[in-house]
Amino acid sequence: DTPLAILDPEIAVALDAELARQRGTLEMIASENFAPLAVMEAQGSVLTNKYAEGYPGRRYYGGCEHVDVVEQLAIDRVKALFGAEAANVQPHSGAQANAAAMVALIEPGDTILGLDLAHGGHLTHGMRINFSGKLYRVAAYQVAQSDHRVDMEQVRRLAHEHRPKLIIAGWSAYPRQLDFAAFRAIADEVGAYLMVDMAHFAGLVAAGLHPNPVPHAHVVTTTTHKTLGGPRGGVILSTAELAKKINSAVFPGQQGGPLEHVIAAKAVAFKVAAGEDFAERQRRTLAGARILADRLLSADVAAAGITVLTGGTDVHLVLVDLRDSDLDGQQGEDRLDQVGITVNRNAVPFDPRPPMVSSGIRIGTPALATRGFGDEEFREVADIIASALLPGFDDAVAEGLRARVRALTDRFPLYPTHEGHQS
Ligand code: PLP
Repeated sequence: DTPLAILDPEIAVALDAELARQRGTLEMIASENFAPLAVMEAQGSVLTNKYAEGYPGRRYYGGCEHVDVVEQLAIDRVKALFGAEAANVQPHSGAQANAAAMVALIEPGDTILGLDLAHGGHLTHGMRINFSGKLYRVAAYQVAQSDHRVDMEQVRRLAHEHRPKLIIAGWSAYPRQLDFAAFRAIADEVGAYLMVDMAHFAGLVAAGLHPNPVPHAHVVTTTTHKTLGGPRGGVILSTAELAKKINSAVFPGQQGGPLEHVIAAKAVAFKVAAGEDFAERQRRTLAGARILADRLLSADVAAAGITVLTGGTDVHLVLVDLRDSDLDGQQGEDRLDQVGITVNRNAVPFDPRPPMVSSGIRIGTPALATRGFGDEEFREVADIIASALLPGFDDAVAEGLRARVRALTDRFPLYPTHEGHQS
């Protein structure tokens, strides 16, 4: 069999360049992580060849005895990890998990109530041109202008006003924990289902460092590639009562053949996530985010009109608020990119700048914690970020900061045994 580098050098070169980019920069996109080599080995396996429509023990294809073992392990492990009664591990992504869960629970034309995209919600929670905004009537709660936190009284008021069939609790950009019990109480008051989308913070939940939504929600969806650190994909957890509806909404409702190679990689990731090393990594993730928030709240940064939304963080990310700064989100992202730190600009609530520019930067610590960073390294990273955002930034400053980034990436080699695709 011809190696990739010979068969398709253009792709091999791009893959090697991406490996070099990941190794040589500091990855701080809050939704990203580095999957272990064992996860990638499972994902790159012969299971990619297999059709397995259906579920373990009930397939529409022959030869499924081994993928059945794989998928059942994934199901059993994720149920145990989060204490769920039922799990579907087939959604190809977080968006597909949400689509299937909504199809299972409500009808087109029903009302959903989720966090406004501009206030940290996800596209699938009711954005206008997403399936969720097209299929359902949308009511959206926002964070309060005073403290930028979700206001449960507003959620209750909107729920009674709009009578949603589904309330969604979850976020893509929010630095605090949600009160799942309060969400459930409101859902019960208006006869709605409660769906929690824990895509961002699932790894923290697995490690026992964040409240678990499973006891409170009818359905919990997640991705497997963010704080959970597995392959790209989705999962739906539910009560036993809803399991049948969820399963048929995923297949045949939304998808055809499951990606059993990805499901194998999910199973590996769930095994990893149940271990003490994983919990220790999540503790460093949280500590790193707090160190970053503290540095960005210090006097020199505040003097430049830069602050941190909600005045800190309880999770793996920090939202930098640039509304009172000359610097906008695009410029902040570009400056950090110039020094070798990858982040994304992000609209902040009540953002006066247009979304393509925005007044925020979302910075996450999961990938660097996976790389091995602890308090000392996060203090250095936080200082590099603060220095890059301060007035006086120019090419000379950038060069000095780039050298400090390089010192860190050199000290913490990524995938040290992985040789890439070039011969
Ligand atoms: N839900 C939340 C809260 C997310 O942040 C994301 C991804 O950004 C998704 C769902 C969608 O996941 P995917 O990109 O795998 O479709």
